[in-house]
Amino acid sequence: MNPVLVMKFGGSSLADPAGIGAVADLVIRRRDAGHRIVAVVSAMGKTTDGLIEQSRVFTAEPDLREMDMLLTAGERVSSALLAIALNARGAKAVSLTGSQAGIITDDSHTNARIVEIRPYRVRRALDEGHIVVVGGFQGVSFTKEVTTLGRGGSDTSAVALASALDAAECEIYSDVTGVFAADPRIIKDPVRIAALSYQEMQELAEAGAKVLHPKAVEFAKLKGTVINCKNTFAPEAEGTLIANLEGRVKPRVAGIATEDKVVLVHAYEQNAGSLDTVESVVAFAESRSLRVKQIAFHRGRGDGMVGSFIIPEKENYHLGPALAAMKERFGDAIDIHERFGALSLVGAGITERHDFLIAAIRLLKEHGIGAGSFHTTSFRISMLVERERLAEAARLFYERFIGPDA
Ligand code: ADP
Ligand code: ASP
Ligand code: MG
Repeated sequence: MNPVLVMKFGGSSLADPAGIGAVADLVIRRRDAGHRIVAVVSAMGKTTDGLIEQSRVFTAEPDLREMDMLLTAGERVSSALLAIALNARGAKAVSLTGSQAGIITDDSHTNARIVEIRPYRVRRALDEGHIVVVGGFQGVSFTKEVTTLGRGGSDTSAVALASALDAAECEIYSDVTGVFAADPRIIKDPVRIAALSYQEMQELAEAGAKVLHPKAVEFAKLKGTVINCKNTFAPEAEGTLIANLEGRVKPRVAGIATEDKVVLVHAYEQNAGSLDTVESVVAFAESRSLRVKQIAFHRGRGDGMVGSFIIPEKENYHLGPALAAMKERFGDAIDIHERFGALSLVGAGITERHDFLIAAIRLLKEHGIGAGSFHTTSFRISMLVERERLAEAARLFYERFIGPDA
């Protein structure tokens, strides 16, 4: 039997009927080359953004369950249209929602986590000779609620299905040829990265490289599924392979990622023994469904304790009202800074020694770019810098660590 190949197409590949037609042709070519195909699709073009905007007409704090009902409509349209286009070309195709494809999630609306995949219907349809088109970005909870997997989550649907179906490879098609060393919207013609380890890709994605969802990489790691990032508009061109890479050479900055809007929150505990503020500020954020990261609290000088965390604007549907409520609730015990963006350097080994961190700090100092925080993990150096100078900082870092003269 032919091997299963999962192909995922993002919104830019499906922007209009001509795009859907071109995707149908490409799917048929891959099938004819000897694969059983599962095509996972995103909503057409900017459909998801449009749906979010429509909800905003009514409220800044939409019910998250209803957001999921709303947003999954986008992928339902594109999956049905692709199946119709495939059938019109004489191929046998069937579309399935995430729920029909057996994608079971927890019940965290708008940012659900896949907990299990039961791809019985997908397998059956493949066995019957169908091309199976699955609506990405969506699943169903144990209580039969429709859920979504976070913005860009069709990547996760595709890779998780590939892993569940033991597909050797998962092709992720977008409007760029692979993963670049920096965001092409900021750096002109950045170099393409030919291959990345799972960990490097996950760190890049978590730091804001939009081309692949971080949770998708997690699923690829489980069974060693190879992810091949390719360009829908140049499908023959070599993109980026994401796999288990052994024997890495010397530490180098593989890529730079930015996130242009993040909110930095500082919280102050007057009495280090009490932990009251620490507890209640984090619990408060959680109760307002705010997605918070990089939480750190420590004792400073004197008796007090200072803490910080950051809140990315992306995907935090209740951010404005939640920040206002937080300010009201905690008053002077917290400071909210909204003038920063995040810039990250990613690469295996770059925090083993701190030459990269020191060079980064010096570069910011040299150009008088203000910073809000520095944070390192084993593969990443992240810093918050003044938002207006984020793109400039990204260019400076690219030239210093990656560009031809680096
Ligand atoms: P899709 O709609 O196909 O899922 P996305 O818009 O989510 O595609 O991701 C592709 C986009 O990601 C590119 O158009 C590019 O602007 C952006 N991007 C950001 N960082 C990177 C990077 N390091 N490499 C490639 N693309 C990147
Ligand atoms: N349509 C969803 C989004 O825009 C999911 C995806 O594109 O992967 O976020
Ligand atoms: Mg995407």
